[in-house]
Amino acid sequence: MDALGEAPDLFEAEHRALLAARAAHAGGPDGAHAALGELLAAYERLLRETRRLVRRSDRAELEMTQLNQRLQDLAGELQYRATHDPLTGVLNRAAIIERVNQLFARGGLTLIVLDIDHFKRVNDSFGHPMGDKVILGVVACLKQALPAQGLLGRVGGEEFTLLLPRDDPEAAEAVAQRARRAIESHAFGLPDGSRVTASFGVSCLARGASFDAAYGQADEALYAAKRGGRNCVAHASGDLQLHD
Ligand code: GH3
Ligand code: MG
Ligand code: MG
Repeated sequence: MDALGEAPDLFEAEHRALLAARAAHAGGPDGAHAALGELLAAYERLLRETRRLVRRSDRAELEMTQLNQRLQDLAGELQYRATHDPLTGVLNRAAIIERVNQLFARGGLTLIVLDIDHFKRVNDSFGHPMGDKVILGVVACLKQALPAQGLLGRVGGEEFTLLLPRDDPEAAEAVAQRARRAIESHAFGLPDGSRVTASFGVSCLARGASFDAAYGQADEALYAAKRGGRNCVAHASGDLQLHD
């Protein structure tokens, strides 16, 4: 910017050469040679400048595209971290609540809540890292048991939910038993060779219900399963299925 606040003309030299060429052209052949020389020099500089500007603008465009891509990657990462549990990679409690309430707006669904049995013993006897390993093993078993349309979430320290997009108690029972058996028979590699089990509570509610209602019922059933001896599945309807 100059003192008057105007941007300097990048092509002032070319402009002057053009005016001189025009004047020489109007005045006849005398002096036209010198004006042509000046015009050639100005035109060449103009080409160089234009090429430099085009290169700079290409670079700026590329940087902008790369920054945009990075921004999109970061937004995706942020969204992933906000909705997933860092230890296991499954949906976190907030994401499960949101998904359950969305699904209830469209139809009925099943919420299976499970809690690892006597998990404190694992931590107390073998340490927290071994406890984390057991949690990861339980998640692997749950993934095996989950149907393709189901969702898996960690709603507490050693408490998980399986979400099935239909309120079908028989299908829920089959999935819960499959998960229970997968955990019961999984080799967790505990130093004393002991097994790990989990207790399950199931609630099936129709369209229009909420996470609080479904979780409240499933949690009550889960405690019935704990009282009933653990390593079993209990339904909010009251039927308790003991392990075979
Ligand atoms: P119950 O059969 O009645 O469920 O007995 P429990 O020993 O499993 O009892 P409770 O559910 O109260 O114990 C849960 C323990 O889980 C307590 C807590 O220290 C542990 N825990 C919670 N989150 C984590 C975690 O991310 N890693 C590990 N290693 N332990 C965890
Ligand atoms: Mg617990
Ligand atoms: Mg427990």
